[in-house]
Parts: sequence; C-alpha cells; structure tokens
Amino acid sequence: MGLQRYQAKRHFDRTPEPRGGIAPSRSAARLRFVVQKHAASTLHYDLRLEMDGALKSWSVTKEPIDDRAVKRLAVRTEDHPLEYADFEGDIPEREYGAGHVDLWDHGVWIPQEAPLTSLRRGKLEFELKGRRLRGRWALVRMGNASTRKKHLWLLTKLADGDGDARR
Ligand code: MN
Repeated sequence: MGLQRYQAKRHFDRTPEPRGGIAPSRSAARLRFVVQKHAASTLHYDLRLEMDGALKSWSVTKEPIDDRAVKRLAVRTEDHPLEYADFEGDIPEREYGAGHVDLWDHGVWIPQEAPLTSLRRGKLEFELKGRRLRGRWALVRMGNASTRKKHLWLLTKLADGDGDARR
C-alpha cells in the first residue's frame, strides 16, 4: 500500500505526527504492534501491526476486549510509518484525525502464517504480547477483496492454547 495515502492526508507543518518512510522489513521475531486510543470526532482504537516495513492499520470502533463472544468492527485504514508506533499527542483542529491520541497498548505480535499472504487472503491469526492485549486474536475481512465491504474486518479473540491457560 505504501505511505502515499498517509502522507497525502496530512499537513506535516501543522500536525505533530511523523512524516515517516517505509523501513526495511525486520525479523518476524520482534514485530511491533500498538493500539492508539484516538479521541477524534468519534472515539476509536487504532490497531496497528508492523508488517513489510510499515504499520498495517485498522480503526476498531470500540475498546478491544478479551472475550471470545465479542466481535469488534475493525475498518482497515491507510498504512502508517513505523515511527507512528511512538506517537501520542494532539492532532490540531481542522487537520485530518483532529483530536487526542494516547498509546493504549503496545508490544509484539506473532503472526501464525506469512502475514502479507494472510492479509491478502483476508484472514490474519496472531498472538499479541502487550500489556493489555495478550493471547490469540483474529482479524477477518467481511467481504472479499473486490467488494465494497473490503475495508470492513472483524477483530475477535480466539481460544488460547494450553500454554496460555494460566491467567
Ligand atoms: Mn484514528
């Protein structure tokens, strides 16, 4: 996807957000994830997974919750630069995404399969090792890649294996 959409939406002389660039892909062992609580016109939680030198991003409409019975709508948004994982602060009024951003969770994520392939297929399964979010999760695209629903995904908690049973 690249960062063209990210950069085109923002005025970097007016917002404190990083301009960023595509970073080299890194070892799958230490892929970062963050969730940023974003009090924009509508409060939401931006889930970002490091993949292919950028942060693949979903805007989750409500707080992610460790409950397998709950599906959270997650709207795919533009890729963000890796530097965005450290961003907290205020996006000024009248700028894209105006409002306060808090780092709500961060850590590493472990894809179950090759992440770019899973992303194209519309089904990602992964483990999160964050402060708030832990264990196995899934992001599943609601429509196929050619439909108008292609940006709509669902975030759900999966059952954890025996290794994670002690909680
Ligand atoms: Mn946002």
